[in-house]
Amino acid sequence: MALESTVTCLNCRTMTPETMPEDHCVVVYECRGCGETLRPKTGDCCVYCSYGSMPCPPAQAGQLPTLPTGLKGDQARSMFDSIRLWP
Ligand SMILES: [Zn+2]
Repeated sequence: MALESTVTCLNCRTMTPETMPEDHCVVVYECRGCGETLRPKTGDCCVYCSYGSMPCPPAQAGQLPTLPTGLKGDQARSMFDSIRLWP
């Protein structure tokens, strides 16, 4: 399982190699280049899945939580935000 992921900032395109935590998702990431706060795109579980060169370990292992039916996009994401462990 790869734990290294290079995050590319949307704002300044800075590419920062990061080591991903194995046990929780990272939903708030501060760019080391410009300080921009990155959040996952709709439908992605964490910033590594959205902006990293590698998806997060749970995604690599196919262990993503299943989206509840009837919930889409931001609605589902805000629900997952409430159960996630924050860094
Ligand atoms: Zn940046």
